[in-house]
Amino acid sequence: MISKRIKEMTPSATVALSGKIADLKSQGIEIIGFNVGEPDFNTPDNIIKKGEEAYRLGMTRYTPAPGTLELRKEICRKFKDDYGLDYNPKEVIVSNGAKQSLINALMAIVDPGEEVIVPAPCWVSYVEMIKLADGIPVIVQMEEKNGFALDVDKIAETITEKTKAIMINSPNNPTGAVYSREDLLKLGKLAVEKDIMILSDEIYEKLIYEGGANVCMAALSPEIKEKTITINGVSKSYAMTGWRIGYAVGPQEIIKAMTDYQGHTTSGANSPAQHASLEALSNSADSVEMMRLEFDRRRKYIVERLNNMEGIKCNMPKGAFYVMPNITSFYGKSNGDVVINDSVDMANYLLEESKIAVVPGVAFEAPDNLRISYSNSIENIEEGMNRMEEALKKLK
Ligand code: PLP
Repeated sequence: MISKRIKEMTPSATVALSGKIADLKSQGIEIIGFNVGEPDFNTPDNIIKKGEEAYRLGMTRYTPAPGTLELRKEICRKFKDDYGLDYNPKEVIVSNGAKQSLINALMAIVDPGEEVIVPAPCWVSYVEMIKLADGIPVIVQMEEKNGFALDVDKIAETITEKTKAIMINSPNNPTGAVYSREDLLKLGKLAVEKDIMILSDEIYEKLIYEGGANVCMAALSPEIKEKTITINGVSKSYAMTGWRIGYAVGPQEIIKAMTDYQGHTTSGANSPAQHASLEALSNSADSVEMMRLEFDRRRKYIVERLNNMEGIKCNMPKGAFYVMPNITSFYGKSNGDVVINDSVDMANYLLEESKIAVVPGVAFEAPDNLRISYSNSIENIEEGMNRMEEALKKLK
């Protein structure tokens, strides 16, 4: 009954965990959630007002398949102001979240059997999306000891005549790594030389710490721009995950193909949310900065707490809102009841023992780690880390 395509999807390692979390919650047990991939802040008020205005103005009908001209023009303005890049609205598509822009891009460029290289640890949906587009994901492991930096030489070694694209994500989910200008330039030059597309997912672009700023792949040279589809959206930077607005910019021919696909699959993005996104992009810098500073405070606190725990090693990430402590020193240990053999065992143990929810690293091709989102209040982070520390002490 069910198609081969769907049957071949790897079941999400987080689904079983989510079921357990829901079970515990339904029993009235309070769980501290470090598993979420979205800001814990509310959408800023000015953006909500703009959304309300949209309904009152009657913006309740289909919009053009690639998005409203007004929003596409605003996205062009953003790329010009932020990165000095010139795009015209025909080189922009607005989608139902960055997720839809990503699948649109893959459907538009990948033929069956073509390979797409993904540096790992990586966001779990990339791999499944490549498979849905009948492509072959080629996972290339980045090194934890280098802070999961982009290893372009290693990527170069995996290129074959079937390689169609490389999907990168900086700042990175799940590692929090921010790729350096030097490495991105090296990758860009490689893509130009080998005639390979780059899908650059820059959705965490505003969440960078320690004085860093996002390096936009497409801005590195006009030749690299020709090879790059930039994916972005309002979900993470503006606390708008539920509004479902993402976008992509890139060569006109590819954006046109993505629009054809989107037109037949969803018709396009939500109309009032597109109107609200105008406000996000044009008039919300203060709110973004407030959230960024708060994330930064939590980042420093949680990394310090984790590194003070016996047996844990944790890199200080420079972006996004995730940390990836290494937990391998606990593998083979037990509390006398359960044995921890991998990251799934550890996530289950922490959920049962400490009532905290974290994601097993294996879900992101990082079997030595956990992914902990610090998108939670500092009080909850403190309590959660206290509980985690106690639980780890029981493992001998
Ligand atoms: N790209 C990355 C790396 C993400 O982590 C996420 C969300 O978790 C997305 C894209 C999807 O964002 P959106 O809500 O815009 O679909």
